[in-house]
Amino acid sequence: MNLNHPVTYIKGVSVARAELLYSELGIKTCGDLLHLFPFRYIDKTQFYTISQLQQNSAEVQIVGKITGVKTVKQKRGSRLVATFSDNTGTMELVWFKGAKWIKDSLKVDVPYVIYGKLNWYNGTPNMPHPEMETVKEYKSKLQMAMQPVYPSTEKLGTKGISNKVMRGMIQNLFQQAYGSIEETFPQYFIEEHQFLGKKESLLNIHFPKNQELLAKAQYRLKFEELFFIQLQLLQKKLIRKSKLKGFVFEHVGEGFTNFYNNHLPFDLTGAQKRVLKEIRKDVGSGAHMNRLLQGDVGSGKTIVALLTMLLAIDNGYQATIMAPTEILAIQHYNGIVDLLKNTNIHVDLLTGSTKTKKRREIHTGLEDGSLHILIGTHAILEDKVQFKNLGIAIIDEQHRFGVAQRRKLWEKSPSDGGAIVPPHILVMTATPIPRTLAMSVYGDLDISVIDELPPGRKEIKTVHRYDSNRLGVFKFLKDEIAKGRQAYVVYPLIQESEAMDYKDLMDGYESISREFPSPKYQISIVHGQMKPADKDYEMERFAKGDTQIMVATTVIEVGVNVPNASVMVIESAERFGLSQLHQLRGRVGRGAEQSYCILLSSYKLSSDGKTRLQTMVETTDGFKIAEVDLKLRGPGNIMGTQQSGVLNLKIADVVKDSPILQKARQAAINLLQEDPSLSKKENANLLKTYEKLRKTSGIWSNIS
Ligand code: ADP
Ligand code: MG
Repeated sequence: MNLNHPVTYIKGVSVARAELLYSELGIKTCGDLLHLFPFRYIDKTQFYTISQLQQNSAEVQIVGKITGVKTVKQKRGSRLVATFSDNTGTMELVWFKGAKWIKDSLKVDVPYVIYGKLNWYNGTPNMPHPEMETVKEYKSKLQMAMQPVYPSTEKLGTKGISNKVMRGMIQNLFQQAYGSIEETFPQYFIEEHQFLGKKESLLNIHFPKNQELLAKAQYRLKFEELFFIQLQLLQKKLIRKSKLKGFVFEHVGEGFTNFYNNHLPFDLTGAQKRVLKEIRKDVGSGAHMNRLLQGDVGSGKTIVALLTMLLAIDNGYQATIMAPTEILAIQHYNGIVDLLKNTNIHVDLLTGSTKTKKRREIHTGLEDGSLHILIGTHAILEDKVQFKNLGIAIIDEQHRFGVAQRRKLWEKSPSDGGAIVPPHILVMTATPIPRTLAMSVYGDLDISVIDELPPGRKEIKTVHRYDSNRLGVFKFLKDEIAKGRQAYVVYPLIQESEAMDYKDLMDGYESISREFPSPKYQISIVHGQMKPADKDYEMERFAKGDTQIMVATTVIEVGVNVPNASVMVIESAERFGLSQLHQLRGRVGRGAEQSYCILLSSYKLSSDGKTRLQTMVETTDGFKIAEVDLKLRGPGNIMGTQQSGVLNLKIADVVKDSPILQKARQAAINLLQEDPSLSKKENANLLKTYEKLRKTSGIWSNIS
């Protein structure tokens, strides 16, 4: 029997069971079943004394004697209570059901091994319905040291595939197919890393002989899983770098130099300079650039983007910036037009609301090359938008752009003697992605990080207040407004509860209007159901300082820049995710004044909710926040991961196993240096596994 055979080849697996395994867990072949890993183990190698017991949910095993048994009457029926002692203390064993026959079977003063979860009552433990056997019985059995517990579903349970049955099937599988498990790593590799062999690893992941072997098995299998993903990502990057031609922005010309020397309104930070160098190296190399630029809100990504575009223009190319929202596109446009006002570089704006006449003008300018920089929204992706020679596309706040859309950009570039040369791509994100995750998700991208804020910024003060303190918060707003500042008040708007959220927003707006009456105070409101023109109008009023308070939903989340706004009040803050809170907070603290972020919540907070708010109060470091976010939510919810292989990991965890990930990545780098095509004889089984994975696992095709 081999691992490609259907599970029905396994003794004890009927057609009905096979169908269940498939429909419930997607398991088809023996190999699939072999890779259904236990998610925990019942450790019966460890004994506890009563004095060592801890108030946690783990199951424990104790040796002791029953010293007395009594029946306690309760409302309905009775419960059986046995006093159980060892040398260190005494506890109770309790049965609510079957009291009668259990009572008869209990032997007083005979040593027992008991096993189960604990209940704690007034600081003392008891164990309801323990599994128990006498020490004599225990010793007479061949003990399976650690028992695997497999992932299951309700249906599997009710249809008779209990954990015990699953264990039995996998045991049989090992008996029948152990010989056909193939080693996937070369011998030298195993020796170098002191791995367990593949067979031994699989055996010990299912039926560990002891803790140490389990740890070794897990290490090997996690390493292997991460290693092959890294191998794929790295190879893809190699191919891109060697095969994909990119435009060469050879020289730094007049446009760049003139701007840099005469119009740059500030000195670049060290981090901005470093990132710019990294980009220049890429675009000068003749290879295609595919770079992710990470930088916290306010770290100054825009100027880096602009300088990069000037470089493209100096070399005869056009450039574009795409933003996720119209508000943001307009803001980029205004900002860049202002920065370039004393140059002869031609910039224009294209969004969904651009009028037909203007559109035509833009199309013409793009096609004849007289328009140098196009800033806009998704509208840029429309087929009608064609460039004469698009050299670089910059995507701001990339999480809102899908892979397919990125591909569309490629079609906008001119061909170079037949072959398409795609524009260089620079993706900018303010959502910091922890390095470990970035490595596994964007392993084929190059990453630059702006890890330094422009000088002179004051750290935003963040506090958490309960709803009942709202009056105090309003008072604080009044004081700030009296000093000439402006404030945001943001409400959640979640798609699933849109109608209700919308009502909350309107109620909030009304109560704020009452508290801050006109004409003394002016209030703006912006939400997703407004027409773009109305939104712009309101944004504009706030930006100009005509209104002091901006009541809004999260449409202002990304990128909006009003330096005079110094207070961010977030209503129902517990309903926002961490990265969203961080983004929102980034709307203030953009000017010279001390800024504040006030998180309002109800008293009822989940423990995750509490952690989120606490994290916000404790730190403004986007990378730290991202790490916490990743821990709370898992990689599945972090941007970009949906398209990657990291979600389908069977055993490794990109967060917890990041040290292994780094080792695996390094090993993959070393391997590709020695043997880029995996054609050396000693790497034959690596190549075989690699090819197989490429065919079956999606990550090759999914990552753009
Ligand atoms: P983000 O990275 O969030 O897109 P921006 O590019 O909008 O940040 O920059 C935030 C603010 O900081 C802008 O007002 C910008 O002019 C300013 N800024 C950027 N770089 C510097 C710098 N090196 N020194 C001073 N101010 C800077
Ligand atoms: Mg920005």
